[in-house]
Amino acid sequence: MSRFFNKKEIELLAPAGTFEIFKKVIHSGADAVYLGGKKLNMRMLRSDYNLSNDEIEEAIAIAHSLGKKVYITVNNLLNQEDLKDAEEYLEFLDKVQPDALIIQDFAILEFINSLKLNLTLHSSVMMNVHNLETIIDLKECGITRVVTSRDMDLQTIKELHKQTDMELEYFTHGDMCIAHGAQCLYSGMLFGKSSNRGLCMKPCRWNFTIKKDGLSYPSQYPMAVKDMYMYEHLPEMIEAGIISFKIEGRMRDSDYLVTMINYYSDAINRYISDPICYDRKKDAQSIYETRIRDLSTSSAFGKPGLSNINNRSEGTGKIFSNPIDEIEITNEKIQEIKTLLQVKSCNAQKPKLSVKVNSYSQAVVSLEEGVDAIYLSGEVYVPATPFSKNEILKLTSHKKGTKIYLCFPRMMLEEDFSKYNHLLTENNLGLDGLVVTNLGAIHKFKSLGLELIGDYSLNIYNHKAVSFYEKQGLSVATLSLETPLIDAKDVIAKSPIPIEIIVHGSPTVMYMDHDLYENTKILEPTNILEPTIRENNSFVNNDVLVLVDEKKHEHPVQKDNYGRNHMMLYKELCYLPFLKELNESGVNNFRIEACSYDDISLRKVLNTYMKAVNDLSQCEDLFKSLSSSYGGFTLGAFQFNMALKTNDK
Ligand code: SF4
Repeated sequence: MSRFFNKKEIELLAPAGTFEIFKKVIHSGADAVYLGGKKLNMRMLRSDYNLSNDEIEEAIAIAHSLGKKVYITVNNLLNQEDLKDAEEYLEFLDKVQPDALIIQDFAILEFINSLKLNLTLHSSVMMNVHNLETIIDLKECGITRVVTSRDMDLQTIKELHKQTDMELEYFTHGDMCIAHGAQCLYSGMLFGKSSNRGLCMKPCRWNFTIKKDGLSYPSQYPMAVKDMYMYEHLPEMIEAGIISFKIEGRMRDSDYLVTMINYYSDAINRYISDPICYDRKKDAQSIYETRIRDLSTSSAFGKPGLSNINNRSEGTGKIFSNPIDEIEITNEKIQEIKTLLQVKSCNAQKPKLSVKVNSYSQAVVSLEEGVDAIYLSGEVYVPATPFSKNEILKLTSHKKGTKIYLCFPRMMLEEDFSKYNHLLTENNLGLDGLVVTNLGAIHKFKSLGLELIGDYSLNIYNHKAVSFYEKQGLSVATLSLETPLIDAKDVIAKSPIPIEIIVHGSPTVMYMDHDLYENTKILEPTNILEPTIRENNSFVNNDVLVLVDEKKHEHPVQKDNYGRNHMMLYKELCYLPFLKELNESGVNNFRIEACSYDDISLRKVLNTYMKAVNDLSQCEDLFKSLSSSYGGFTLGAFQFNMALKTNDK
């Protein structure tokens, strides 16, 4: 089954969570079906879902007999157990020849290349592809189709389409995330269930109120987004150059899917048959009436703002998890971690301390404290302003033994590449290197000859992914913050380049275009008439918005110079008590994420860590003397020592 518009093939791509669902969906109006196997796959929360190898083989045969396609999702981040399964599974897939694999982790690419397999590859939405440089790099790597970032609008896609022949796929209907693809770490760090491994507990759908400047706002579910609905905008998607229209819903039943697929299929056929008289509203009311959540075009026509938040009661009340405490560091946990880290590596050297800072004054504090490296953030929290050329020059001319690196923002659009290219090629800034946040930035700027450090936004979770990034040009790779200790040990032991670990601070655990601060402009505060009961924020300045969950924990949300929001843990991450053991296991690069600190707190933390790296035997005593400026200290994903298998409930 093929359909064409202006001689370009158009594909309606539908999901199937089980073989039974597949057998119904494949006979609907879908041109292609995507599905997952029992391993190396997202959507793993239900063990009765996904297809066995025999079912995959049969599904491919059925689809091909109907002239349709099957894509297999091999799209989670791989832990060390997955790495053991990967070779055999990929060889099986090579034998049965699906039409493509949809991948997130570059470890898969490494396997396919080393095993010399003949498999077509699509990059998953979890690669968050949003710029031309990334697309060019992926093409060089052999990827033939990109599922674009959900945060890209159609106009941007249209511009990209003019400059590349890469196939472009876009989400058309279904469940969405508030956070950028693969830039949501909270479930992994809080529950040990990584959303990037298909185990998300959906904390974004908790009931939060908002507090800012002492005022409380009754926001209820401020991060619970509506479902994507592009039914009425298929012509605009075709004009933007999208060739594959993806319906979300691998956990959906066959009745829902077949109905939805057939509405979309009929609409595409009607448009192809008579584009001038096409009725985009036909059946729209019927789709609207079947909705559970409200519907939105999300980012397709620009930032949707608060209109993207679901207020429909049927769609907000579904609970996937309840707020829990971010687990405090205990002596037992520390001892457990130390025991697990009893590995002596011959790579251990005197550790280096780096710090990511938000402002010039923070950078000066860091220079004065004598850290080994300072990372100048590429997305600074307001009211700070981005590092100016003069500030960078002042810092690099006074750096003495400290190295200075410039970081990029995580989300880099074409204009960002243009600005950074001009800044970096027209000036000698005296930088020692760059902290790169996305594949496109590596591709674009590796020719400058500066050292490249991969930031944690690259989600490097295993040593195979490190090998990929080493070939791309990284000299240091920051480990994913979602990595449990047991997997971290494996990466540290086998990595071809030094691994950097974020050992302290307040990293971003949800990165979103959505601006939660907008709520304070439209909601009526509940305590505005009673100034005496205005409440200060517990840990951060009152001008920082905090999300207050049902356990009254306050999650700070910093807004950056691009207007994007960064949600943080309410506790600080702290690995100080076992820094010595980490170093002995082969980690020589420790980082502090300090962007949300004031200068006084930063100096205290740096002072403590400098003492620690100069004499690792003091770590436990130094930890006892350290007091948190947040709600305490937590271990993040390191506390989940036993690697969770992806089919754990
Ligand atoms: S918690 Fe994050 S990854 Fe999970 S559904 Fe929400 S936005 Fe998506």
